[in-house]
Amino acid sequence: MQLDLSENFRKPGKETTLSYEPEFSESFRDGTACSLKAGQKPVIEFRFVTTEKGHVLMTAKGELLFEAPCDRCLTPVDVPIRIDLERELTGPEAEKSEDPEEDESTEDLEGHSLDAEALLLKEISLAWPMKILCREDCKGLCPVCGANRNEKQCGCDTFVPDPRMAGIMDLFNQAGNNGKAVE
Ligand SMILES: [Zn+2]
Ligand SMILES: [Zn+2]
Repeated sequence: MQLDLSENFRKPGKETTLSYEPEFSESFRDGTACSLKAGQKPVIEFRFVTTEKGHVLMTAKGELLFEAPCDRCLTPVDVPIRIDLERELTGPEAEKSEDPEEDESTEDLEGHSLDAEALLLKEISLAWPMKILCREDCKGLCPVCGANRNEKQCGCDTFVPDPRMAGIMDLFNQAGNNGKAVE
């Protein structure tokens, strides 16, 4: 959603609050099926305060609850993401800063409008956990039968040697047997 801040940038002292209900499409993260947890109506509270002409201090706060598959067993896991942002937005009418680093805050602005969704997606990406696990010691799925090893012991032999190695293993086994004086 594009938030039009043209009036904010013009009027020093102006203060605006806005409740934004984000909706993220399914699997907004590459290759991972993650989405807002069903039944969630999250709200991000935006506040814009114009500190001086062309400068708006933005704060955004809220809690988002996503659901994403466990990296090992694919069970859906709750992923809470907390948004707590404070950023200075610099509008096009502000005098150009000498320090290029200060201009970073304008990257989500186009003219006077702020792309709220793009801004939030970036924050979510930064806050997203490196690993999604249903529990610290998740045993994952059996590579042979696909069973969830947290739920049952399938008893599969998960040692799958390279077929080319199998022949060599046979030789080793024979050698072992020969050495052991078979009856
Ligand atoms: Zn798991
Ligand atoms: Zn198995």
